This record gives sequence, C-alpha cells and structure tokens, in this order.
Amino acid sequence: MNIINFDHNASTQVSPLVLARINEIYSFGANSSSSHGLGRKAAMIIEGARQDLSNALNAANYEIYFTSGGTEANNMALFSDDFEQIFYAKFEHSSVYNVRPRNCEIIDFAVDSNGVIDLNDLQNKLAQTKSPNFLVSIMLANNETGAVQPLREAAKLVHRKGGLIHSDLVQAFGKIRVDLEDLNLDFATVSSHKINGPQGVGAFLVRRGIDVRPMIFGGGHERGKRSGTMNNAAIAGFGVAIQELEEKFSKLNKIRELRDFIESEIKKIGGQNVIFFSQNVLRTPNTSYFALRNADSQTQLIHFDLNQIMISAGSACSSGAIKASRVLQSMNIAPEFSNAIRISLGCNNTKDEALRFIEIWKEFHDKIIKK
Ligand code: PLP
Repeated sequence: MNIINFDHNASTQVSPLVLARINEIYSFGANSSSSHGLGRKAAMIIEGARQDLSNALNAANYEIYFTSGGTEANNMALFSDDFEQIFYAKFEHSSVYNVRPRNCEIIDFAVDSNGVIDLNDLQNKLAQTKSPNFLVSIMLANNETGAVQPLREAAKLVHRKGGLIHSDLVQAFGKIRVDLEDLNLDFATVSSHKINGPQGVGAFLVRRGIDVRPMIFGGGHERGKRSGTMNNAAIAGFGVAIQELEEKFSKLNKIRELRDFIESEIKKIGGQNVIFFSQNVLRTPNTSYFALRNADSQTQLIHFDLNQIMISAGSACSSGAIKASRVLQSMNIAPEFSNAIRISLGCNNTKDEALRFIEIWKEFHDKIIKK
C-alpha cells in the first residue's frame, strides 16, 4: 500500500522540475562569488531566484537575503537590532518563541479561542512601551491551526507606536496570496521546503532603508548581511518552486474541498466528541486541526503510522516527555480536547486517500469511545 502523506505543513516533496533544476546546477560546481564565467553564471541564477521571490511577494521595496531556512530568517529578524522589547504570542513557531536576546524584555499578547491574536490586548500592551525601539513578530498563518492573522491591522498599531513588525510567512506562503506592501511589513520570513522546494533554504526580507545586523560574519555575501558560500542548487530549486506557485494556487480550491469533506465526515462520526480548531475563522485551505475528547494524540499518530498515513500530532515529544501544544495552550483549550492531530494536505492528495483516512480515524474513534 502506498504511503498517504497528510503532513505537508511539516515538509513537501520537491517537484520534478525543481529536482531537474537542482541536478542541473549540481552538474557544474561554481562559487557565485567567483568572477570567471561559471561563477557569473551561478550569480545570475541566484539573482533570478531572488527576482522570482520578489515578484511572488510584491517585494520590490525589500532587500532579500537567502538563508538556510525559516529558522535562520526568524532568528535574523529578532537579532537584527538591540531591541528593548520584543512582542510575540505564545503560538509562534519555536524559531521565534525560543529566541530570547539578552537585555531584551519579551512580552506576550493574547490569542483567542479561535487561534487569532487579540488586537485589543496587543494595543494595550503596546500602549505601555517605553521607547519605539521594539519589534512585534506575528506569523501570518499558524502552522498547527492554519489560522490567518490580522497582520495589516497589527502593522498599523505597531507603526503608530514607532516600532517594527516582522512576520513569519512560512506557512502562509504558497497557501494564500501574500503581498508585503499591502501588509506593510518591515521584515518577513519564508522557507522553501514548505512550497515543494528543497530543504535548507529560505529567505529573510527587509524593507529597504532598515539596517539589520548580520548574525553570520565572514566573506560578506548577501551584501554583508549573511556570509557563507551561496547554496546555488537549493536557491535555484527554490526559484523554480516559486515559479510553480501559480499552478498550485489554481488547485487550492480542490484542496479546500477535500479538507472540508474530511472534516464533515469526521464530524458525522465523532459528533460532540470532536472539535475542529479555527474552523470559524480564515484558515489556510489545506490544514485541519482537531481533537477527539480524551484521545491521546501520540497514540493516534502511531495508529495512523501503522496504517501508512502520515499526520502530525499537535504536541511535541522532547526527551521522552510529551508536552501539550503551545498553540492550544495559547487558545485556552479545555484539557480533554488539548490532544489534537493535524492533517495538512498537498496538491496531489486524492479523494480515495481522504476516504482511507476517514476509515482509519473511525477505527481509532470506535476503540476510544467504546472504552
Ligand atoms: N516557521 C514556521 C511557521 C514553520 O512551520 C517552520 C517549519 O516547520 C519554520 C518557521 C522553520 O522553517 P525551516 O524548517 O525552514 O527552518
């Protein structure tokens, strides 16, 4: 039986065109800093990918620095200056949440039960800022719930107080339209492997005119902001994945329908014992996050794994201890529903796969409910 991949928010498979491009680039070894012909060719390929990214995000007014992925780009944002205060909600990805620059006060603001930031709480917290030297970081789409955040409104509040706003766009990019000018962001983060590009490459975008401090020093690559020999093949592959986004956007409705079909079937089986998170707010179309009353998410994950279905549990197992999801904690979800599973669909998932998922979920449900 083929493996069913319902875990595309974790990572995606590179597309055939991306793979072909990566192979092509690896067939000639060149350093994009070299001034000979092959070096210039590599540099041109990188600039092409940079332009692709700029076009996709309406980022002509932004500097784009290629990084090793979303994690590094998020770190670059939070370490870009000696901020006195950094604001973020508890539901941010660990590559924001675990960044605690020295001598910087971290302030968190509330998230409502739908997984959307509380703008009033943000405004109240910002009212107490002592100086404009602060940064607010808000992901556009949450990786667990898919909930889309009111970034434009948040940016207004931040700018009114003279601060800067960063957004982790990793889970939104390629799933909803993103326009940096429209959102009025100062910094943004994207990652290639969530959009069928290769792993190990991403980008940090900075509004022109804002000076950022590098985190990695060396030969002065990326205009001095991110040293290290450029990852030509990965960047070129990322560029192709970006070019393929338009085609993917045309399939998003089909993905949404499949997600909604799964949710309605699960609801028919689970009734009052199942809840779907962020179902009543704008969500990325491929993501569904739900909990069965008192069902352990790790056991569920294993049950699906044994049946060759890849999903994700909304809790992380670290050093053998299972921690409740920070995202659900931020939403104040009742303990009996705080053990959730996430499915995240991709363009190639089919109705047959959805039916198989529902069948396997029903097996699990029946065991739990009969207990
Ligand atoms: N931000 C979000 C919301 C993510 O989902 C991820 C990856 O899981 C990252 C950042 C990190 O990106 P990368 O894996 O490229 O370091």
